[in-house]
Amino acid sequence: MLLNQKYKVYPTEEQKEILERWLQYCRQTYNSALLDKDRKYKQNKENYSRYDMQNQQTLDKKKYPFLKEVPSQPLQEVFVRLQKAFESFFRKDAKYPKQKKYKDYNSMTFPQFGFKPNGIHRYAMSFSDNGKLYNKKLGEIDILLHRPLEGTIKQLIIKRQGKKWYAIFCVERQALPPSIDTNRAIGIDVGLNKYAVLSNGLEIKNPRFLRKKEKQLKKAQRTLSKKKKGSLNYIKQVQKVRSLHEKVANQRRDFLHKLSYNLSKDYSVVAVENLNICGMVRNRKLSKSISDAGWGMFRNMLLYKCEKHGGLLKKVEPKYTSQDCSYCGNRVKKSLSIRTHICTKCGTVLDRDQNAARNILQKALEELLVTN
Ligand SMILES: [Zn+2]
Repeated sequence: MLLNQKYKVYPTEEQKEILERWLQYCRQTYNSALLDKDRKYKQNKENYSRYDMQNQQTLDKKKYPFLKEVPSQPLQEVFVRLQKAFESFFRKDAKYPKQKKYKDYNSMTFPQFGFKPNGIHRYAMSFSDNGKLYNKKLGEIDILLHRPLEGTIKQLIIKRQGKKWYAIFCVERQALPPSIDTNRAIGIDVGLNKYAVLSNGLEIKNPRFLRKKEKQLKKAQRTLSKKKKGSLNYIKQVQKVRSLHEKVANQRRDFLHKLSYNLSKDYSVVAVENLNICGMVRNRKLSKSISDAGWGMFRNMLLYKCEKHGGLLKKVEPKYTSQDCSYCGNRVKKSLSIRTHICTKCGTVLDRDQNAARNILQKALEELLVTN
């Protein structure tokens, strides 16, 4: 699938002058090729093709050396544009191509774009080592990559819009693998009281044996704090705490392995929140339960198990997933202690975590269907 990604560029005054001049030469080339085509057709019903135009251009460059200032690829792309204009005319999608005025001709296409590693310059336009746009005659142009460029770059268009300049990259991205079935999708909200709640309402509790072991561990830790440091009893208790710790960790890992296995087997798309676990663990109030619950471990297990089963783990931004109503989108502000979502607009009453899981699922599906 092909997509356009647009970024603002900041040419200097000098670079703008050059770009303006190139645009002007491209526009003149377009207009004169159109005139030639009209004339040849009217005189002898002769078809003047894109290749004829290119041959003419080679001759023109000898006569008018200033044309050589424009990189040859964008100049040749002018004929591709003219050809496309005629094609849409013949398909009755557009009117007969017209002479272009200054304001109508505001972009140039660079059909090949690459990187310029170690100073090797292969394309008319490329990224330099420091991430700026680079052309031999223009030098480096500042570009603001406000979001990452994803996919394989197929071509670049430099465009003037009013007084601003833009770089539009046409990128090719992999479509969803055919094995992905968005009808078999589930959202998961990892909670504090329950381990997780699914978008279909299923609650997953921490297993009883795990809770039991955790209780034993807490008790052992309390006992340890009462013992005299360095005493024989203290050392024995340290060993007891350590072995319980290990058991809890093992049991939790088993539990998460089984849970992630079942989810990845039952569903093609599993949606979770893209939680910043490090940031959350710093929040003291939540810290214990979160680091204990092993969220990061769970997500990693899901990631590779989903892939193994031909599915997909989709992470979404957690913003407003617990606030918004999953039925009507109304924002219902609630503190962490309020466990039920009650929508004042549509009347939905839902467990807080299930509402969040439904929102997580919806966000994931929206993103998947938009980008594919
Ligand atoms: Zn609602």
